[in-house]
Amino acid sequence: TTILAIESSCDETSASVVIDGKVINNVVATQSVHEQYGGVVPELASRAHQQHIVPVVDQTLKEAGVSKEDLSAVAFTRGPGLLGALLVGASFAKSFALGLDIPLIEVNHMQAHILAHFIDDPKPSFPFICLTVSGGHTQLVLVRDYLDMEVVGKTRDDAVGEAFDKTAKLLGLPYPGGPLIDKYAAEGDAKAFDFPLSDMPELDYSFSGIKTAILYFLRDNMRKDQDFIKNNLADICASVQATFIEMLMRKLRKAAKQYKVKEIAIAGGVSANSGLRKALEKASADYGWNVYVPDFQYCTDNAGMIAMAAHYKYLRGEFVGQDVSPMPRMAL
Ligand code: ATP
Ligand code: MG
Ligand code: FE
Repeated sequence: TTILAIESSCDETSASVVIDGKVINNVVATQSVHEQYGGVVPELASRAHQQHIVPVVDQTLKEAGVSKEDLSAVAFTRGPGLLGALLVGASFAKSFALGLDIPLIEVNHMQAHILAHFIDDPKPSFPFICLTVSGGHTQLVLVRDYLDMEVVGKTRDDAVGEAFDKTAKLLGLPYPGGPLIDKYAAEGDAKAFDFPLSDMPELDYSFSGIKTAILYFLRDNMRKDQDFIKNNLADICASVQATFIEMLMRKLRKAAKQYKVKEIAIAGGVSANSGLRKALEKASADYGWNVYVPDFQYCTDNAGMIAMAAHYKYLRGEFVGQDVSPMPRMAL
């Protein structure tokens, strides 16, 4: 079986081909138009998807050495994401399926972030706990099987990726700022500044309080010294990053204990963070966890993960009809 998968939930237009469960390629066109606005502008995102989708799919099929007639099915991200952005991928996939008279597969973007772990070895074994950390989500997911997942904890307000990006914005860094905070943090002292660790009940998270604390911290210090940010950038980044990571790790440790699971994975854009990866390595040594971190290209949005999810859905014969429409708030 050969499946073409399309991802268009946010600001990456991506396509991938999976043959018999093996992801062959992953073409990603990142939209740079949003940088100047300091965040993704939904209307511009859908327009950019419209421009990119044909060349991206074309290149993906060519690179994979696959012709349209070889396809067994076509898959797309149904949600969660931006409605206008999702519509482009959904409409494209639907017309492709209709034109070629092949099955159509809908994929949940958050499920796909987790299934990215099955693209390459080593693969986690079931059940495992996945900390999904991205621009729009922060979730602890108990994964019982490829398509059997339960959210056991989540953020009650902001996502950690959002907290990274908003902090970066306060520091005057361009969007998306998460990777830049990571970069500057590498040269800074994580103990230089103290930020409060907000604590939610059970396995839930909150990142809005810390965001405000950072805002006041910067404002107060800038009043005393105009060059405070400039002179302390690395230390601020390191301290903020360490705080976010400790907040994430606390609940992850709690979840691992509560569900007696030692198979631990991370997924989503923030799983590219080097500090988080280090913290996991340490926890792996301390608690005997087997830790799984996806390849960088499969951390942020990509169609490779959509293709992987589509493969499992194809095996189960989970197809959808032409009446399917995008679900911006699709739950896991
Ligand atoms: P969702 O998957 O919830 O719909 P999204 O698709 O926008 O949201 P992703 O593309 O998975 O999110 O992740 C993007 C986020 O990851 C951004 O917030 C970005 O700043 C963050 N990010 C990427 N690399 C790093 C890094 N090295 N350190 C910290 N954050 C990072
Ligand atoms: Mg993105
Ligand atoms: Fe994502």
